[in-house]
Amino acid sequence: MSCLFCRIVSKEIPGAVVHEDADTLAFRDVNPQAPTHVLVIPKKHVTDLSEAGDPALLGKILATAAAVAKSLGLGDYRVVVNNGAGAGQSVFHLHFHLLAGRAFTWPPG
Ligand code: AMP
Repeated sequence: MSCLFCRIVSKEIPGAVVHEDADTLAFRDVNPQAPTHVLVIPKKHVTDLSEAGDPALLGKILATAAAVAKSLGLGDYRVVVNNGAGAGQSVFHLHFHLLAGRAFTWPPG
C-alpha cells in the first residue's frame, strides 16, 4: 500500500488520531500551519475532491470536521481543501485541513 494516508488509516504508520468512525479519520498534521491543524480524511481511498463524487461521503467529512472542532473546543476555524498540485496538494488522498488558533486573512493568497 503506497498511499501515506491509507497507511495511517490501516495503522501501518502512526497518526495522532483525534477522531475515528466507520467512514472518516481525523489526525493532527505533522507540520502544523496553525496552533490547531487537523486533517480529516475519508478512510476509503479517494485521490482528491475532483474524484470524490459522493455527496454523502463529502457531507460526512465536513460533519466530522465540525464535530472535531467542537470536541477540541475550537472557536473560529478555517476548513481548506487543496485540489491538485497547483493548488498546493502534496498528498493525493483527499483531506480537509481544519485550522484554528490564529487569525486568518482573506483572500488567503
Ligand atoms: P496538502 O499539501 O494539502 O496535500 O496537505 C498534506 C498535509 O499532510 C500537509 O499539511 C502535511 O504536513 C501533512 N502530512 C504529511 N505527512 C503526514 C503524516 N505522516 N502525518 C500527518 N500529517 C502529514
